[in-house]
Amino acid sequence: MNPLVGIVVVCHSRALARAAVALAQEMVHSRPVRIITAAGLDDTTFGTDAGQVVQAITAADTGAGVVVLMDLGSAVLAAELALDLLEDARGRVLLCPAPLVEGLVVAAVVAAGGASREEVAAEAAGALAGKTELLSGPPTADVPAADAQAVDHPLDERAPGELVGAFTVLNPHGLHARPAARIVHEVRSLPVRVHVRNRTTGSAWVPASSLSKLTMLGALRGHDVEIRVSGDQAQQTLERLLALAARGFDETPEGHCTDGERTRRAPLPASAGIGIGPARRGQLAHLDVPDSRTDDPAREWRRLQEAIAAVHDDVARVRARASGEWGDAASAIFDAHLLLLDDPALHEELRCLLESGRAAAPAWSSALTRTAEELTAIPDPYLQARAADVRSVRDQVLRELLGSVPAGTPAAAAPAGVLVCADLTPAEVAELDPGRVNAVLLAFGSPTAHSAILLRARSIPAIVAAGPAVLDIPEGTPVAVDGTCGEYVIDPPAEVLTTFHARAAEQVQRARHAHSHARAPAVTSDGVRVLVGANIGTMEDAHAAADLGADLAGLVRTEFLFLDRAGAPDVGEQEAVYRAIAGHLGGRRITLRTLDAGGDKPLSYLPMPPEANPFLGVRGIRLSLTRPRLLADQLLAMVRVAHDVPVSVMFPMISTLEEFRRARNLLDDAIRRDGRPRPAGLRVGIMVEVPATALAAAVFAAHVDFFSIGTNDLTQYALAAERGNDAVAELGDPADPGVLRLIDAACRGAAGRVPVGVCGEMAADERATALLVGLGVRELSVAPAVIPTIKQAVRALNSGAAAELGALALNVESASAVRELLAQSFRA
Ligand code: PEP
Ligand code: MG
Repeated sequence: MNPLVGIVVVCHSRALARAAVALAQEMVHSRPVRIITAAGLDDTTFGTDAGQVVQAITAADTGAGVVVLMDLGSAVLAAELALDLLEDARGRVLLCPAPLVEGLVVAAVVAAGGASREEVAAEAAGALAGKTELLSGPPTADVPAADAQAVDHPLDERAPGELVGAFTVLNPHGLHARPAARIVHEVRSLPVRVHVRNRTTGSAWVPASSLSKLTMLGALRGHDVEIRVSGDQAQQTLERLLALAARGFDETPEGHCTDGERTRRAPLPASAGIGIGPARRGQLAHLDVPDSRTDDPAREWRRLQEAIAAVHDDVARVRARASGEWGDAASAIFDAHLLLLDDPALHEELRCLLESGRAAAPAWSSALTRTAEELTAIPDPYLQARAADVRSVRDQVLRELLGSVPAGTPAAAAPAGVLVCADLTPAEVAELDPGRVNAVLLAFGSPTAHSAILLRARSIPAIVAAGPAVLDIPEGTPVAVDGTCGEYVIDPPAEVLTTFHARAAEQVQRARHAHSHARAPAVTSDGVRVLVGANIGTMEDAHAAADLGADLAGLVRTEFLFLDRAGAPDVGEQEAVYRAIAGHLGGRRITLRTLDAGGDKPLSYLPMPPEANPFLGVRGIRLSLTRPRLLADQLLAMVRVAHDVPVSVMFPMISTLEEFRRARNLLDDAIRRDGRPRPAGLRVGIMVEVPATALAAAVFAAHVDFFSIGTNDLTQYALAAERGNDAVAELGDPADPGVLRLIDAACRGAAGRVPVGVCGEMAADERATALLVGLGVRELSVAPAVIPTIKQAVRALNSGAAAELGALALNVESASAVRELLAQSFRA
């Protein structure tokens, strides 16, 4: 993308410059323009300084040059002097005689449209023309004198070959700066003369190449605008302009959420189930902001700046993702957030509030709440929807300022609904109240991210990677979400609602049936027993597991004990927690996975040098082997528990036999340290998550008691698609035939020697149950809530037919072909 012309404002007053910049930025809704001020000698002393102007010009120039706007007197002299001080400045910097405020607004909009510095300066210089015209009496049929040079024929007569057209303004806010800028952009580059007028008000004809005059037409929604075009490409130009007007000048952000409109997209299902309700735009937690005071405004100002900078970085990151994945129109949603964070007028107001003794959090909260309220009070749905942006930015900064405020539970009184937000961290999901969050609709995210795993564990229907447009769904708009197939409908009409309700009723019916049989074993119609276990990542999971019919705990993610704390738990604490889990499982086998940190689960007390590719770095067993003391303590706690209940010790992310040997030696040391004989029920196994391990399964099978395939990691490594990266979420499908061949290789390598389970998320997909059993998997470990469903899926299949399905799936072309096959077999 070409760089935009930068703008410098040289002015005697810093406050005046900031306010003028804020006003100009308001008008720019496309690419942000770099506007740098060189104003005042400090915050309160009037004056100008050539040194400041030099710095501002340097900072504003991103390659397309700079236009400098000045107020009066010494500002002009300082700008001139700055040009003398700068090398080559005359070729890339233009001093513009425009009036400061009007000129800056016009310059910003024209620059945002990609105009050259000469065009920006010329447009800005003519910025007073519209005002002059408006104030000089009723409109006439002629073009104002200021534009005489642009007109070579009187406009009350048709020029030869001239074409005439008209359109009605569809844009909710009329022909404001952004749509006007699109017109200017269209006509500037072509060898045509284009004039327009507002037929509804009877305005004068104005050249369509002038932004300031277009915006002064006062063309509101519903007004008729006439166009006259002459020149070589008159026909094409007229057609393009009329088409542009018919598309509402491509003002997309508010376009997809209009009343009654149905919007369907192609997002990814992440957690099964149906949820219907009003959109709740990420207003997750009620933030209690204490009205604290300060006697150190400078310190509070620093805190506020740090918090704003941190949120700025976050938003910029999200914006970059949005831009890469959905293009500029989508990323523009986040520009508004960035502009708000940078808003000089807001910063000025905040400074005043801090000086008056308010602490950073209440000052920020009150300034932003007032802005949001002002927007809400305007009877314009577009601006009302912008209030949600303000609230979102307000709360992000408040969370930074207030420290670890849980992002989660909506205020008790807040109505239930469908939570719509950019992304959620696992911690935020943990705080959600499933009683109030009917479903979650995320702009980003991936079905195998840990937050999605938690959403499934908590039975909250969810869709991820729906695109940032969902962030524009106005608060309160009804949304229907089907997390099973990944379909959502905004403001669904009655017949769609009926379909969703019918699907929900059917799901409830099936769930009831499955629950009533949850405690019975899962046996196929031809008598093959498949163990269905629970994945446990919290004590809540352990509690739910047995109730929901778990045959065992197939995966205890012990890292939950190690995360979010200042130091590792000692042997005693770990033993107590493992015993508590075993207690909930009532004597059934528990599979304790050793610490699986690193990658996306860093531990603050195990600082690691930064890695370019953490998922390919020191994580899982690799990390534990670099901290043998930590692993030894964990194994000792597991051994102690293993004397009283059946325990399987499982090592994560094993990629070589040597790693397994070193880990098993540490386990033998732990048994010696415990001082008793080896516990009778102790088994030792590995997770198969690395493709090389799956392919070498026969080698490992000679040394272990069991395999558990971690399809989440196996998929990311097999397809080279990082599991938390939503840009490649679609690629990371465990149903890919390449991944299936690795599962098949692991099962064949283990055949007749050790049992194979699956504890990755694929095990929780009832459509994949027949496939996995068909490939030879005999244990499926899933989120507790899904156990009854998976048991039912096992009961519904015949192992012979499943084996045929498995063989078929290995030989189809793509993940989608496998999914199609699975859907057919599931329906059958
Ligand atoms: C897996 O990778 O499939 C797995 C179960 O482990 P985790 O999701 O905890 O990395
Ligand atoms: Mg894993």
